[in-house]
Amino acid sequence: MTFKPVIAIHGGAGAITRSAMSPEKELEYRSALTFIVTAGQSILAAGGSALDAVTEAVRLLEENPLFNAGKGAVFTNSGTNELDASIMDGATLKAGAVAGVSHIRNPILAAREVMEHSDHVMFIGEGAEDFAKSRGVEMVESDYYFTTPRYEQWQRALLEQNGVMLDHDAASLASQPQGDPIDPDKKFGTVGAVALDIRGNLAAATSTGGMTNKKVGRVGDSPIIGAGCYANNRTVAVSATGTGEMFIRAVAAYDVSALMEYGGLSLEAAANKVVMEKLPAIDGNGGIIAIDNKGNVAMPFNTEGMYRGVAKVGQAASVDIYR
Ligand code: ASP
Repeated sequence: MTFKPVIAIHGGAGAITRSAMSPEKELEYRSALTFIVTAGQSILAAGGSALDAVTEAVRLLEENPLFNAGKGAVFTNSGTNELDASIMDGATLKAGAVAGVSHIRNPILAAREVMEHSDHVMFIGEGAEDFAKSRGVEMVESDYYFTTPRYEQWQRALLEQNGVMLDHDAASLASQPQGDPIDPDKKFGTVGAVALDIRGNLAAATSTGGMTNKKVGRVGDSPIIGAGCYANNRTVAVSATGTGEMFIRAVAAYDVSALMEYGGLSLEAAANKVVMEKLPAIDGNGGIIAIDNKGNVAMPFNTEGMYRGVAKVGQAASVDIYR
């Protein structure tokens, strides 16, 4: 039996800055999303695995400073960058994750090495970096992640000092000059990908810099299997973005799978229940992308917008930002 391969990606969710939005910036996001989802689609079209497609899509998102992962990672309250990533193979239920890393160019590649070449599921900090290095994953100096927009975002957060922000949470639109369609100060910038391949295998991958001005050592949902990332061939592949603490408490990604497996819900009903009912009930903001084992796609979010894209093999890719 062959399946119709499909991939979906996200680049974070949040509030729309219509007043500050510049058409150029919007185009930049749309082009980046189209390029990346199409790259994943090509892998699937050539018979590649869901695992390879989500790895490559997330690697490309990490390479793009528009998104809060890899190169565009946000700053902690000490002005450092601590990155998290995870990946899961729906065929084997194998998973790998790294958390709190500061010298790995592409945390998603390190997570995949953990999954495929260690007896463990998650490594943190220095141990994660040592393991990645031993596997030949590219290391960088910590200033590699520096980007001026993220630095300024952190400065605004410090000024407001009202706690952490989802990929930023402080500045007013007036002081937010970049013209991003989604207010970078009110956005969860995590990136992710989910895919179904021609053999019917599902995979999910998630990567983030976390939340702007987060405390050093804080870890969100993105590297936690079942919270920010989950894949199971019996049900669904899910990648999340949003207020990590609430996604952890809701076991959000796994809950979509459980509602389908044990509750008999459709993908759409399960995804909507988690994002539109269960997360808001505990003040959880954000969204998910999800693909079930029949190739259905759901991308609900309870914020004003979510950077997202989807591409079925043989069809044109579509990307969107707003509702
Ligand atoms: N979920 C991420 C975290 O809590 C943040 C985000 O999605 O931007 O670290």
